[in-house]
Amino acid sequence: MSDSQPFFINGERAMISLGPLTNTKHCPFGCAFCYVQDGFTKYGSLNDDDILSFLKQNKKNYKIIYMSGDTDSFATPRTERALNLLYKISSELNYDLLFTTRAVFEDKHYAILKKIADKQHEKGKELFASVSITRYSDDTKFIEPDPIPSPDARLDEIKKLKKIGATTILAMRPFLPVVDPNDYIKMLDKTKGCVDIALGETFYFKPNSIVQAKVFGTNDINEICKYIPLSEEKMDFDLAGENWLCWKSDEYENLVKKHCEKLGIIFSMHSNSAIKEFKKIKTRN
Ligand code: SF4
Repeated sequence: MSDSQPFFINGERAMISLGPLTNTKHCPFGCAFCYVQDGFTKYGSLNDDDILSFLKQNKKNYKIIYMSGDTDSFATPRTERALNLLYKISSELNYDLLFTTRAVFEDKHYAILKKIADKQHEKGKELFASVSITRYSDDTKFIEPDPIPSPDARLDEIKKLKKIGATTILAMRPFLPVVDPNDYIKMLDKTKGCVDIALGETFYFKPNSIVQAKVFGTNDINEICKYIPLSEEKMDFDLAGENWLCWKSDEYENLVKKHCEKLGIIFSMHSNSAIKEFKKIKTRN
């Protein structure tokens, strides 16, 4: 991002984060499919006051604040800092908030999260708590390697977040051709009654890249094209506007969509449409 635009902002949402963990490591985690490895632009490294100032100065340019994006801001060692920043944002600004994480919170963290959820509700706003889990089976652990907590630990987290009053999102993102689609069904069944929104996502990567090698185990893009259909697209949240190879599957999408309908869970491949649907239903009720 440029100096004048340290974060993604597009008229609808402001996406902020704590920025890269260090000069050489963008995130405490190392998901095999993480598109930051393939050149997705990293966000700025601002202190908390400057992040707040950025949000205040750009108030007219967004309707919801996401703490998400190029790194997991909530993972150790920045958990407390991220939660305190979220609390400050909730205290000083009047917007729906959404955060995403693969980290698992400790009891002391839930106390802060409850305060944030309560503060949001006092103002008639939401705290969308999005827990990302990309696979369930152990044979695909390589896509979410240690120290990422187990899928079960993260599924339990969703139940706890629901209890403290957050609107919960199970982000099974991105859908990957190396993941058994029944993994998604298992995760939905295990969190039945605790998930408000389920999300899938198109898988983006660059040809002959780090992500390709880690996910598919081959450096030869032609090998992959023999087995799965790929197209080329820009990401709607990549300010660089580059083309990415992408994999999307009607089979995966329809399977998850149908199961969500059965369980009464909102499903979408895009968070903005899922949030709109959530609000429409809430207003109706
Ligand atoms: S947690 Fe998110 S930012 Fe971190 S490596 Fe995984 S996908 Fe990338």
